[in-house]
Amino acid sequence: MSQCYLLLGTNIGDKKHNLLQARELITARIGEITKPSAIYQTSAWGKEDQDDFLNQVLEVETDLSPEHLLSVGLDIEKELGRIRYEHWGERLIDIDILYYEDQVITSQRLTVPHPEIQNRKFTLVPLVELAPDHKHPKMKQTNKDLLEACNDPLEVVKID
Ligand code: ADP
Ligand code: MG
Repeated sequence: MSQCYLLLGTNIGDKKHNLLQARELITARIGEITKPSAIYQTSAWGKEDQDDFLNQVLEVETDLSPEHLLSVGLDIEKELGRIRYEHWGERLIDIDILYYEDQVITSQRLTVPHPEIQNRKFTLVPLVELAPDHKHPKMKQTNKDLLEACNDPLEVVKID
């Protein structure tokens, strides 16, 4: 069993329902969700003319390899009707692999840890809720330290 952290993001349709459906498919096909973060709302990153995002980080125990996990995640995105209008554009659900154990992977299809973790508060705030002292295997800093050093100006608000 391997521990991984996944980031869910959604900004169209019934967003809470999109997250719920994603969690159901992740449990069925990737593994048990051992800890879900709260759901957080953020303004769209990179483009500010679109609807707000909801984000959630999940701690998951999986038997899948990182490559297989990526494929299954992409299948779930497609199945939930992901529509891609443009880069950073709107989509029904986005599933990113933040961490996979302490592995560092750089391949054509997959970069782990996710290269943007340290730049985005909408990733770091839920990550710190779940695993404040977990160390980034490349940057050698904890999630809490990364959040303190992050200067992303976008506000991240916990919703219930
Ligand atoms: P973004 O998540 O940056 O908004 P996309 O979801 O459209 O962009 O990017 C999808 C591609 O990113 C996937 O096809 C996958 O090959 C690649 N990718 C690289 N590293 C990761 C990762 N850690 N998690 C998810 N996708 C990744
Ligand atoms: Mg993605």
